[in-house]
Amino acid sequence: MPLVRVAVERGIEGDGLTYASPWQDICVGERVVVPLARGRSRGVVVAVGGVELLDGLSRERVKEVIERSGRGLPPQLVELARWIAAYYISPLGMVLSSMVPSSVKERTGSRRVGVLGRADAEVERSILADMRFTPSVRDAWEGIVAIGPGQWPLEPRVLARTLGTTMGPINRLIGAGLLVRTEREEVRTRGFEPASPQLGSDERPEPNPEQSAAIDGIGEELDRFGVHLLFGVTGSGKTEVYLRLIERVIADGRRAIVLVPEISLTPQTSRRFEARFGGKVAVLHSGLSASQRHRQWQMAMSGEAMVVVGARSAIFAPLPDLGLVVVDEEHDSSYKQDTLPRYHGRDVAIKRGQLAGCPVVLGSATPSLESWANGREGKFRLWAMRERAGAGSLPKVRIVDLASEQPWGKGGGSAGGSGRGPLMIGATLRGEIGRTLKEGGQAILLLNRRGFATFMHCPGCKWTLSCSECDAAMVLHRGRDLPRGEIVRCHHCRAERIVPSVCELCGGRVLGLGAGTQRVEEEVRAILQECMGEEGARDALLRLDADSVQSIRALHSGLERFGSGDARVLLGTQMIAKGLDFPNVRLVGVISADTALHLPDFRASERTFQLVAQVSGRAGRGAHPGRVVVQTFSPDEPAIVLAARHDFVGFAERELAARRGAGLPPEGRMARIVARDQNHAKGLSRANDLAETLRAAADGEAGVVVEGPTPCVMARIEGWHRWELLVRSPGRRGSAGAIQRVLGAARRAGKLLSDSQTGVDVDPLTLM
Ligand code: ADP
Ligand code: ZN
Ligand code: ZN
Repeated sequence: MPLVRVAVERGIEGDGLTYASPWQDICVGERVVVPLARGRSRGVVVAVGGVELLDGLSRERVKEVIERSGRGLPPQLVELARWIAAYYISPLGMVLSSMVPSSVKERTGSRRVGVLGRADAEVERSILADMRFTPSVRDAWEGIVAIGPGQWPLEPRVLARTLGTTMGPINRLIGAGLLVRTEREEVRTRGFEPASPQLGSDERPEPNPEQSAAIDGIGEELDRFGVHLLFGVTGSGKTEVYLRLIERVIADGRRAIVLVPEISLTPQTSRRFEARFGGKVAVLHSGLSASQRHRQWQMAMSGEAMVVVGARSAIFAPLPDLGLVVVDEEHDSSYKQDTLPRYHGRDVAIKRGQLAGCPVVLGSATPSLESWANGREGKFRLWAMRERAGAGSLPKVRIVDLASEQPWGKGGGSAGGSGRGPLMIGATLRGEIGRTLKEGGQAILLLNRRGFATFMHCPGCKWTLSCSECDAAMVLHRGRDLPRGEIVRCHHCRAERIVPSVCELCGGRVLGLGAGTQRVEEEVRAILQECMGEEGARDALLRLDADSVQSIRALHSGLERFGSGDARVLLGTQMIAKGLDFPNVRLVGVISADTALHLPDFRASERTFQLVAQVSGRAGRGAHPGRVVVQTFSPDEPAIVLAARHDFVGFAERELAARRGAGLPPEGRMARIVARDQNHAKGLSRANDLAETLRAAADGEAGVVVEGPTPCVMARIEGWHRWELLVRSPGRRGSAGAIQRVLGAARRAGKLLSDSQTGVDVDPLTLM
């Protein structure tokens, strides 16, 4: 019996446990079930070997694998999992488990189907030697010989149809032993529409010179690993570059993965790929049912799909012969997984490309500073596209200073009362909305805050209602479905309370301040009614945020409605800021550019720049020029001013210099550890203990420092007190791995487990 090392799913540190396999042909990557403690666990075989896997264990004590799946991950993905486990300090079994959708592990919707294959070549020859054919059987056999080896095995019915014959001759060939019955696992999905090539347009625009330069340049290097940063302004036609490169990869018999942010994985996006590549596209997003997801995964695994388009986790699609990886909107923060293992989809994509020996293309109008720095240093090849590709040009952006414009007329809003507060839409934006409607255009309005009022405040004694379990203000929500039409809710633990009518400290009047999308919705509705009349305005406004859309599917259908032109104004949070391509959008309004600006986070400026630049990019993508109005209380803020000028390079250089001065990423590396406990004293002492272990481990590493523990910005969430520790290493070169060595040492000392009380985040995106 061979011995195997199995990385078990249930959180075990280290690279796995040793078992004996009753099967000779077990392989690396295969999914298995093994005995563990008194129960059993799923796991993945990560090594096959002999006594060297015993690690001093006696052979008699090794238990046997209980069950095998017969199928597994390609060895390259096991290799990728090892890298993730080491880089992000996560248990290997957990990483492998998160790579495979649960619908695949549970075989949702699958059944066994009888299929036919051809006999072994030797057997076939001996049968043919004294086979006597009737004419119809000979015809069938000649047809069978002409079917390419990649097409087998086939269902009998499908084979008959392909050959244009009945089951008679086929059964004769089975009887003779030339066709052999086997079984295949197949996933049947109800309600899943296979991609139809006629969907979308079949236009295939001729690349312009900037696009051609990128296509030909990257195209010359399709046979080797390399990272290419496609820096193209919004609407410069980055997708066409991806499509053309994928055409070349497919012509070469290889396959591609395209990652897009979950939110922008709209039917619009997948259709562009399906229109070009038809049924060879598998789409993976969270709106799929379990069996649909299983089916798409199987299409990837079997090689049936030439292209996989999906959100973050699609980077784990088990495609054979990978020839290209694309990460669209590479700066997008949704590529970072916010639960264990906290990997960054872009960085995993780069590693996967390296393992597969194929290029990785990162595309963005606003690259992350990490990628930009790599591009400047020549680690990534930079391809710039400065002009919009199709109709349209970059929109004109106006910055409006809210301090001088906002008509603070109607006094403070009251919680239970009319809700009339300071208006959120100033005269300029109001005028532009009216003009856009009159011209027959559409508008997108962005506000990155949900709810009606973002905090409940007593002006008398400065009291603010906060959640009893979190360090966060409670947000006022309104809705017809709510018990009294309104409620206050915590956005961190979802706790809800009845809206207080008076201040809990002084009994004074409480006001709902800080407007969210719900309040702006009322304001926009009033503007629409003024412009279009009661009747015309009824369905003209569409609000999309996490409260109004409960699923990706609902988001997609909302966007379809806007795309059809039925809705004239789209109001929403960041979920509408990305990737949308609606030609009739002539106005984009940023209600407040300040929502991210003042967060205590070193990426606040970068986020603000991205948000303003990306949402501005939604305007003027058709024949009509676009206009953008950005409202802010900080009209001189460089992130806003430079975004309005479409000056990414200017912003990036400035921000990189600032980060360099402070030793912050990408000019330094960082890992964040959050220690949590429901008991304050116990938590603090554990955090101190952990800091000491980390400092001792960092002793031998040049330049590595451990900061903290300090209370997190959100010092309490859901009743858990939280402390933050930062392990930082300066400089970009030579420091790779230093942080992992320090964290690894702490883990071996038993101080840094992946449990509910300690969270490790390597390359954190936020420090909140
Ligand atoms: P990006 O992803 O860079 O924001 P898109 O790929 O969405 O830009 O392209 C914007 C629009 O330009 C799309 O409608 C696309 O069909 C069109 N387009 C792309 N390339 C060309 C081209 N070479 N000629 C004409 N139109 C093009
Ligand atoms: Zn008060
Ligand atoms: Zn809370």
